Parts: sequence; C-alpha cells; structure tokens
Amino acid sequence: MTVLNEAAARFGELRMLIDGEWLARGAGGAQPVTDPATLQVLGELPLAAGGELDRAVHAAHAAFGAWSRTPAIERCRLLAQAAQLVRERAELIAHILTLEQGKPLAESRGEVMGAAEIFEWYAQESRRLYGRVIPARQAHTRHWVTHEPVGPVAAFTPWNFPALTPARKIAGALAAGCTCVIKPAEETPATALELARACMDAGLPVGVLNVVFGHPADVSGHLIRAPQIRKITFTGSTAVGKQLAALAALHGAKRCTMELGGLAPAIVFDDADIGEAAAVCAASRFRNAGQVCVAASRFYVQRQAYPRFMEQFRAHVAGLKVGNGLAADTRMGPLANGRRLDAMPGFIDDALQHGGQVAAGGARHEGAGYFWQPTILADMPDQARAMSEETFGPVASVAAFDTLDEVIERANGVPYGLAAYAFTRSAATAMAVADGLQAGMVGINTPAISLAEAPFGGVKESGYGSEGGTEGLEAYLCTKFVAHRA
Ligand code: NAD
Repeated sequence: MTVLNEAAARFGELRMLIDGEWLARGAGGAQPVTDPATLQVLGELPLAAGGELDRAVHAAHAAFGAWSRTPAIERCRLLAQAAQLVRERAELIAHILTLEQGKPLAESRGEVMGAAEIFEWYAQESRRLYGRVIPARQAHTRHWVTHEPVGPVAAFTPWNFPALTPARKIAGALAAGCTCVIKPAEETPATALELARACMDAGLPVGVLNVVFGHPADVSGHLIRAPQIRKITFTGSTAVGKQLAALAALHGAKRCTMELGGLAPAIVFDDADIGEAAAVCAASRFRNAGQVCVAASRFYVQRQAYPRFMEQFRAHVAGLKVGNGLAADTRMGPLANGRRLDAMPGFIDDALQHGGQVAAGGARHEGAGYFWQPTILADMPDQARAMSEETFGPVASVAAFDTLDEVIERANGVPYGLAAYAFTRSAATAMAVADGLQAGMVGINTPAISLAEAPFGGVKESGYGSEGGTEGLEAYLCTKFVAHRA
C-alpha cells in the first residue's frame, strides 16, 4: 500500500477516544470530512452527545490522581516515546494532514516534525518543574513553594495547524501532570487522532487523554460547565475565545489560555535588505494559504523602498504555484473550507472602494477546491477592512509610511497583538520597534518566532497566556506556598 493509500484509508476509521476506547460511532451522529482541494468526502466523523462527553470528563477526572503523581521521569519517558513515534510516522501523518487540510506536503511534513519536537521539548521540561525555598521569618520554620498540576483540562483546537496546535496543548497538559479532553477541529480530525494514537502506543494510561468531536458550541459549553474540568485552553477566533472565557469565569472561575486571532504588521524600513524582506514577507503571508494567526498581514513599507519592495514582492508571488497540496510542485494549496473562500471577495471589494489597488491575484483560482489566487492589495488606506480585520486568507495588504513614530502608531492601531515583524539594519530602529510594538512576539529580520522552547501567545484581543517555553508549562500548574513550623 502506498503512503497516500494508507493515509486515505485512515479516514475510513475515524474515531473518538474516550476512556481508552476507540469509538466508531457517537450519539451525536456523524459528519463528513472533506478534502478542500477536490471537495471529495474522505470519511465520516463520529460526534459525541452529552453522555459521551460526560464519560470523557469522568475518565480524565479518574485518571488525574495517578497521572499527577506519576514521577516526572516516567512522564518524560512516555512523552519522548510519543515524540519518537510521531517522527517515525511523519510521512503518513503529513499525507493525512494535507488530505484533510490542503496545505502543501512540504509544509505538512514540517508541521508534523514540529509537533514531534513539541512533545520532546515538553518531555524534557517535565523534569524541571522546580519549586523554591523562601527564607523563613522564624527559627525551626520552613517556607517553600511548589507547583501542582491544575487538574483535568478541556482543550479546543482549530483546523489551520491540525498537528502543531493539538501537540502544544496535549504535550503541555500531560507534561505538567494534567489529564486532558481535547476537541480538535471537526474539519481536520485525523491528524490529531494520529497524535493520540502515538500517545496510546507509547503507553499512556487509559483516561489521561480523551479525544471528542461534536457541535463545537455544544461540546465546549458542556466541557467548560463540568465541575471536574479545571482549565480551558482554546486556539481560534477572538469572538469565540471571548465566549469561552466568559463561560469559564461563570462556571468555576476556571483558568484559561486564549490564543486568538492576529493581524501581524510587518514594517520594512528603507535601510533593510529589501530583497530579503520581500522574500520573508511573501513566505510568511502565503504559507498555509494565509491561514496562519502569526502571519505577516499588513505590510508597512517606508516610502523610498516602497517601489523596490513591491516589485520583488510581486515577483515572489508570481512564482507561487497554486494547486493540490499533494503535487510536488505546489507552493500554495486551497483554503481549508468554503467559509474562508466566501470571505475573500468582500475584502477585495472593500479595498477597491477605499482606494486600494489589486497588484496581484484578487480572484478565485481555477479548480474544484477552495482555491483563491495569492493576492496583493497595494496603496492600502488604514480604513480598509483588510488593514483592521483578519482576512485569514492569501491576501497581503501593503501601505507606505514615512516615520518610525507614525508607523508604530499605525501598527498598534488595531485590537490585535499577536505577532509583529520588522526589517531594518539599524540596531536603534530594531530596539525602538521591539519596545514600541504591542505584540506577544516580535520578529526582527526573521519570521522564526514559533519555537518549542519560546513562549507563544498574544496581548490585547489576541488573547492571554503562553504556549511553549517554560511559560507553556506554567499554564497548567497551580502555585502552592507551604509554611511549616516544626
Ligand atoms: P470560527 O470562529 O467559527 O472557528 C474557529 C475554530 O474554533 C474552529 O476550529 C471551530 O471548530 C472552533 N469553534 C467555533 N466555535 C466554537 C465554540 N463555541 N466552542 C469551541 N470551539 C469553537 O471561525 P472559522 O470560520 O473556523 O475560522 C475563521 C476565523 O477563526 C479566522 O478569521 C481566524 O480569526 C480564526 N482562527 C484563528 C486561529 C488561530 O490560530 N488563532 C485558527 C483558526 C481560525
């Protein structure tokens, strides 16, 4: 069997994982999973109803005691083994990912290896959950601080990174000693199921990880209300994140990590390497067909460099071959679902009405799937929708600027604050943007801001809390202070 056939066959056996049991059917019915490049149905996904969600919560609750007391070195061994299995199966998982999500195979391979690295990072970091001793005020007294796992976690992940995002939440929670009920996106379930399979094959005890699907609002409402669930972690849109955070506050003042939308500015100064900046900006904007929360989206280019930047940016975009992600020469796949495709014309029309120009693309791309041409909107005024709302598609908006202070103010002038980028050879300018930009992550002359060992998260309406780095583990830990007088 070829790896593609094997990947396709996995969609014939989509399951939920509840209390160690792989369930082919759910009381909530089923829904089709579709290939966004061909619109062919890949398989039928079972959906949970209330009873199954309760079972998953009880399983996570029942498993929590033993898992939270499992020695860190054993949790480490298990997560490292899961990482190893994901690596060994990377080619299969990458094909599954491209089939259900659409991104080019090369991107899927990179994402799966990144997911394995996240498991490995958390495996190692689970051995370093140190506390501290505070000098006591009296004799015969000890004061110390420890960190304890917060409890069973409910996790919700979207469809744009079906391997990376579940990996961050599953590995972070498990490394800290928490158990987990995760609801990956129903549009891209099979990749997350492969991560769960790797965990179970590595020897994860029954109930520590549960995977459910269903109607998103019903599932999140049910899980967040469950008293046994102590932590909510969500990646997705700002609108949904606000609703889930409100529910979490109402039903038990539960801890939250919210990784929400972004609209990253990329500022290109006159003194930058313009060719390099244009290449990095194009790669950032059109990766995964623009469906990346940290993608550079609003490009502010200093006036003198503007024509040169545009010329090189357009040249990069002209070289982007659009097609089925399974084809070796494809550089950009389809959008992941019809909603994104339907949203694109509105951004283009609005840009034209506000005086913007279509410098490349701007229309559907041929093919049965959800294809949209890589699009550049030039001379964009700040009032245009694409300058203040996430397009979450392959649309780059470019505008000119004159001064540092002006561009920082414009870059900060949206409710989002996830990532931001700048390109300059001046150390002083680099410091000024690093200090001045309101963002959780800033890349200067580099797009590489998503690393297993570094905190990943936003400010303002892009959410709060970090995933990755030591901060990613803190998100799943409570702090306890103990004073002991002998
Ligand atoms: P959406 O808000 O309907 O869904 C986003 C994700 O959240 C999906 O995976 C969906 O299944 C899930 N979701 C929706 N309602 C939910 C609920 N009540 N409870 C739990 N999960 C829920 O939007 P969409 O059309 O799927 O995606 C479009 C927008 O979502 C984009 O414009 C972007 O802002 C945002 N998004 C952000 C990220 C990210 O990485 N931060 C990822 C995907 C989508």
